[in-house]
Amino acid sequence: MQNRSFDVVVLGAGIVGCMVARSLARYNLSIALVDRANDVGVGASSANSAILHSGHDPAPGSNKAALNRRGNELWRHLVEELEIGHSWCGAMVVAVGEEERRQLGTLMRRGRQNGIEGLRILGREETLHREPLLTPGVEGALWTPTAGVIDPFGATIAVAENAVENGVRLILDADVHDAIVEHGRLAGVCSAKGDIYGRIFVNSLGVHADDFMHLVGDRPEFHITPRRGEYFIFDPDRVQVKNVLFPMPSTKGKGILVSTTAHGNTFVGPDAQEIRGKDDTATTREGMREILDGARRLVPGLDQRDVIASFSGIRATGNYNRDFLIETSGSVQGLINIAGIESPGFVAAPAIAERVEQLLRQSGVALEARWDWTSRRRAQPSFKELSHQQRARLIRKEPSYGRIVCRCETVTEGEIVAAIRSSIPATSYDAIKRRCWLGTGRCQGGFDYPRVIRILARELRLPMTAVTKKGAGSEFLYRATKAVDNEADAQCKPIHDTTS
Ligand SMILES: Cc1cc2nc3c(=O)[nH]c(=O)nc-3n(C[C@H](O)[C@H](O)[C@H](O)COP(=O)(O)OP(=O)(O)OC[C@H]3O[C@@H](n4cnc5c(N)ncnc54)[C@H](O)[C@@H]3O)c2cc1C
Repeated sequence: MQNRSFDVVVLGAGIVGCMVARSLARYNLSIALVDRANDVGVGASSANSAILHSGHDPAPGSNKAALNRRGNELWRHLVEELEIGHSWCGAMVVAVGEEERRQLGTLMRRGRQNGIEGLRILGREETLHREPLLTPGVEGALWTPTAGVIDPFGATIAVAENAVENGVRLILDADVHDAIVEHGRLAGVCSAKGDIYGRIFVNSLGVHADDFMHLVGDRPEFHITPRRGEYFIFDPDRVQVKNVLFPMPSTKGKGILVSTTAHGNTFVGPDAQEIRGKDDTATTREGMREILDGARRLVPGLDQRDVIASFSGIRATGNYNRDFLIETSGSVQGLINIAGIESPGFVAAPAIAERVEQLLRQSGVALEARWDWTSRRRAQPSFKELSHQQRARLIRKEPSYGRIVCRCETVTEGEIVAAIRSSIPATSYDAIKRRCWLGTGRCQGGFDYPRVIRILARELRLPMTAVTKKGAGSEFLYRATKAVDNEADAQCKPIHDTTS
């Protein structure tokens, strides 16, 4: 690394860290964005319900309520400026049975207290008309028209790309394991990529934010409890729920929802399991049973045999009044903490970044606007979304767009190569998947894996044995099984050759 000293060092490249880095990049500041992973957005930001909540649910007066509402407003511009996949489809909180129907009014009043516009209670007929797959036991719903769904992978990548295009230095594979505190001031962090110094550090380390606080001697009483939520995704050819369907909320949270992704797949989840390991993203049989039972209360026709994939995300539940903790540290100079960012952290992220700007101003950091900052970022073309004419034009310009690599999702070699050559290069299979949505259909990568491995090896000039699913330690191939007369296979050497 050449320059190791920055005005601002943002720790953690989830949606919150990326949003903070992007928003500060409009000022004359040198900024580093640091993450231990080999890509941005691999923590909670890649495994959540991806709903741009309206803000009707958080406790009035909380940070969650204020930042959810403001974040929802800000995303309306951001999805356009950064060309992010989304749908402002609205959401329904569904009441099953008479008792739940009576609670809808309370929920609507709370939403109005939070300043959310357009809330309306729907009767049974209108609710069923909007979503015919709902249980006949439905008695009505709270309609929240300002909610939406977003592509969470595409969103984090788009925000980070825009930050990098505006001069932010992204430092990946840089696990932060120690800190340099001099005379009560945080001067630097020690990472797997060496020491990184800064005037201000922004701790947006997700579920590990409290570990960092404790490392530097800040807020020993603050703790994050990891709460895992599992999800199950359905074959889009078998199940097509069009709406975001929440059950009535409980003290445990928003409950098990049935929803659609920005790409159109129906999915169900999450449950809420307190776990020991902060990075344990397993999915379990028990989780599946609980989630399917919960989801079938709303949509009884869901069939386990139509599930094609599962994943889980870890909520960073803090003990700061169950609210977001966003503050300039009271005990360590040069540190801003953003911790306990569980749901609705994704939708709130742009508003959290605004809050960080205010904190910087309050601590006397001069924020001078740059004349050359650009708010826009262009998305790579998605072949599937194009018209026949557009496809033909693209293939004439770049023939690799004519080669389909993922048949279920119609992803071409051209898109994969564009992802590998983008401003934040995709260097593993999962990084390509997050950018192009390949391997997410019925065959779950069965067809495209070998092809993508070849393309990655060719573009990154690596032996095929060095191509990984998600960074070091997740290599696909061990050694060649047969010596065949094929140029690409010939690159696949025995493992001892590649490590020499
Ligand atoms: C099950 C579930 C459902 C949710 N649903 C929604 C929803 O529908 N809508 C919504 O608005 N929000 C939702 N959320 C919340 C939302 O996903 C999070 O609030 C948001 O993603 C948090 O972003 P973050 O950047 O703070 O954390 P993360 O995305 O976890 O990023 C933290 C980053 O820090 C890095 N890191 C950690 N330790 C180190 C270290 N030592 N060194 C270097 N880097 C490190 C990690 O690699 C990671 O990239 C949900 C969350 C979960 C888990």
